[in-house]
Amino acid sequence: MHLDIMDGSFVPNITFGPRMVACLRRQSRLPFDVHLMIVRPELFIEDFARAGADTITIHLESTVHVHRVLMQIKEAGKQAGISIVPSTPAEALSELLPEVDLVLVMTVNPGYGGQDLIDRTLQKVRTLKKIKNEKKYSYRLEVDGGINRHSCSRAIKAGAEVLVAGSAIFNAEDPAEEIRILKKGA
Ligand code: ZN
Repeated sequence: MHLDIMDGSFVPNITFGPRMVACLRRQSRLPFDVHLMIVRPELFIEDFARAGADTITIHLESTVHVHRVLMQIKEAGKQAGISIVPSTPAEALSELLPEVDLVLVMTVNPGYGGQDLIDRTLQKVRTLKKIKNEKKYSYRLEVDGGINRHSCSRAIKAGAEVLVAGSAIFNAEDPAEEIRILKKGA
């Protein structure tokens, strides 16, 4: 269960905060993958940890001392993820890759659902998969944005291991069937 937290500042949209995550936590035993698209995420790590996140992912572009915030997430007993928007090169992550449990490559510019996957971003997935294999790093490689039954196999071929789909599932007539189609396509 991937939860997109938007603050209207880092991205041009607002979703919800830790209280909603805590409410959802009572309804589900699925792992919660909390994606913070907010400025100064260091102010909210403990709140989201307490709310029931299993993985907390922050954006490289969202704060200055990213490494410190990743350590803060680990100290809270959670898995730490790092994400980059389409304009950030994969190479910008090099100092952090040994430290993280998850790398999230945004395949659209974050803010809204229902956008088309930007194909060029898959090159970064290829690069990060190659680095992972060469250096034997342990992070999961995740893609988020524009993932649907048509694009999922391209993302997998590029090396993605975790696919986030929003609109493809929630706008489907039969969401459960759409998830099956995505899994099959992947
Ligand atoms: Zn997300």
